[in-house]
Amino acid sequence: MQAQPQASHYIDGAFVEDTDGAAFDVIYPYTGAAVARLHAATPAVLDRALAAAERAQADWAARPPVERGRVLRRAAEIIRERNRPLSELETLDTGKPLQETLVADAASGADALEYFGGYAPTVTGQTIALGGGDFAYTLREALGVCAGIGAWNYPTQIACWKAAPALAFGNAMVFKPSELTPLSALKLAEILTEAGLPPGLFNVVQGAGAVGAALVTDPRVAKVSLTGSVETGRKVYAAAAEGIRHVTMELGGKSPLLVFDDASLDDAVGAAMLGNFYSAGQICSNGTRVFVQKSAIGAFLDRLEARSRAIVLGDPMEEATQMGPLVSAAQRDKVMGYIKAGVEEGARLVCGGGNGGRNDGFFVEPTVFADVTDDMVIAREEIFGPVMCVLGFDTEDEAVARANATGFGLAGGVFTADLSRGHRVVSRLQAGTCWINGYNLTPVEMPFGGVKLSGVGRENGHAALEYYTQIKTVHVSMGGVDAPY
Ligand code: NDP
Repeated sequence: MQAQPQASHYIDGAFVEDTDGAAFDVIYPYTGAAVARLHAATPAVLDRALAAAERAQADWAARPPVERGRVLRRAAEIIRERNRPLSELETLDTGKPLQETLVADAASGADALEYFGGYAPTVTGQTIALGGGDFAYTLREALGVCAGIGAWNYPTQIACWKAAPALAFGNAMVFKPSELTPLSALKLAEILTEAGLPPGLFNVVQGAGAVGAALVTDPRVAKVSLTGSVETGRKVYAAAAEGIRHVTMELGGKSPLLVFDDASLDDAVGAAMLGNFYSAGQICSNGTRVFVQKSAIGAFLDRLEARSRAIVLGDPMEEATQMGPLVSAAQRDKVMGYIKAGVEEGARLVCGGGNGGRNDGFFVEPTVFADVTDDMVIAREEIFGPVMCVLGFDTEDEAVARANATGFGLAGGVFTADLSRGHRVVSRLQAGTCWINGYNLTPVEMPFGGVKLSGVGRENGHAALEYYTQIKTVHVSMGGVDAPY
């Protein structure tokens, strides 16, 4: 299979190549074979992208918001029409099964474009009465050129979740996808052009961390939105601070899912599986610490084990396949290292732990550990693979305290038949995004993001306006100027 794009970068409404940039292969995680070869952006490419963005932005910001929105909504329609080929490309890029990419990736990207396309014309300011006829009003202005930097787990979704609000509110964007999954952002750029986006407003540059770092420190960049690990987040946040740039940081997590003994166990097991095994566990908000009330833990584990063993691993392009390989050999090795650590620390392997007998890709089978304690490495660090830790608890206070005993704060969930308890527990969780009797649902209408080490700012929902615009306040004096000199 081949997925070679016309060129590595997309700048000023057209594909751009510069073979002086270091070459790198795009590997299909199921076969280990290269499906495309690209070149990292040289300083000249980066400069072209930023210059194009800067040139295009002011005119775009001055257009009627309804016109900007129309372009985004048209792009959403095109994405939906091409859902299958876009999903196949996403599968090639990531190794995630078509069963998922057909419903979760391009579809979520289209939702973001449609949502922010509709949101753009509804943005208003405030008027503030000041007495004596004086008043102030506020204007929501675009920030300028935004840099977007993406992780490899949801490349289309991440590109759209950043591009849609940025463009809707009058900004331009230079986007750098993860070096591991560089293909779908180029498709998004082409589709936006086809939908009528003027050249220069959405540019894609390829490369690894160094290209991202150069982008973050360029004086033309007003805002940086990163989806990535806490480690990278620290570097990018610090680099952005140098130029007092705006930031959105969507970082990692080790989120808790609390299951009380009055909950529907089948639903709780289903949610725990979705929150650990979907996308082979490569999801930042996953509920990787599943706290189950001790009175229910036996029944929970029995059902969980039976259902986990039935998950179908295999060729991601077969629609019956439920779990594909991890994104890379390095990620597979990292996850296998954590599984080994879990066994060595004395956690009980309920199921999984190997590659499911598959040597045809970077597979790790659905893995469940029981008898996990809070101090174990597998309960503390983000694994980013299909590894679920199940921990027992007795009381609500204990569960909440242990759930919060982490530096991360991305997400959290609670399963209980007692809705008062559900609301009470989430009100006490130190997490940016919570679910009651569900897990990992992230519709675009809902703000998404973390607290503590898991990030700064919110994507999606009305909240995104705060992170892609700035307020200008205008004071209007109706009387004379009362000067004492
Ligand atoms: P990384 O942090 O390794 O990389 C994220 C992006 O930043 C990549 O494009 C990377 O380039 C780039 N990058 C690396 N170093 C720098 C730097 N110094 N300056 C600028 N850019 C840099 O994350 P992964 O790609 O490995 O993704 C997994 C992580 O992302 C997990 O920790 C996960 O929790 C988190 N994540 C968070 C989400 C959220 O919304 N909160 C959602 C999805 C994932 P390259 O990789 O090409 O070298």
